[in-house]
Amino acid sequence: MRMIQALDLLTLWERGSSRHALDRSALLCAWARPELPVDTIADLPLGEVTSSLLRLRAALFGERIQAHVDCENCGERLELTIGVRDLLQPGTDSVSRDVDAAGLRFRPPCLRDLSAIVHERDAAQGARQLLARCLVDGVGGSAALLSEMTVREVEDALEAADPNADLAFDVRCEACGHLGTAQLDAGDLLWDEVDCRARALLTEVHLLARAYGWTESEILALSAERRASYLSLVAP
Ligand SMILES: [Zn+2]
Repeated sequence: MRMIQALDLLTLWERGSSRHALDRSALLCAWARPELPVDTIADLPLGEVTSSLLRLRAALFGERIQAHVDCENCGERLELTIGVRDLLQPGTDSVSRDVDAAGLRFRPPCLRDLSAIVHERDAAQGARQLLARCLVDGVGGSAALLSEMTVREVEDALEAADPNADLAFDVRCEACGHLGTAQLDAGDLLWDEVDCRARALLTEVHLLARAYGWTESEILALSAERRASYLSLVAP
């Protein structure tokens, strides 16, 4: 896991700002996994992408995640604190996760598959198209002909084989007691934090450049502690 400097963070933010959320996840994952060739990132099982993103998140912003979710029963806004380690199933990376279900063999979906179906508005149709793309080997059938029940069976088998692909967890509402399920998108979560940190850095550069006439690269080369000290003198 590489550490990230202020200038690197701004470069990452600049490259990801105008991209689709799936491309941002690929960009962040490439950052998290510098040992992998960039063109292989879009073919990683989604669970491996998620675990890479969450480990990068822990390295950049800490192990604890503050999130909020609205109760699906009463609408109460619930504040949550979740640990990265509590979310991830350990030891599932780099394992072959092909599954046999409904007489067919499937590989787990990857970012390239999600990009291919991103414009499909009908969720059921999208699920079938996804499975059709992930069909490795079929005996007497095809993913397009799967019944609704069989689609669910295959999805359950794929989820069991690649559990980090879907970060769902139980949430009990403090107001009404309802036990619901919340889902976390690691790419969205991490990007929001990168965006927030990058904008804060730009404000720091703006204030210090205006006060001292330093260049952006000079300001970003300062440690966070020095920037904070100068900022306290400029705008106490
Ligand atoms: Zn509630």
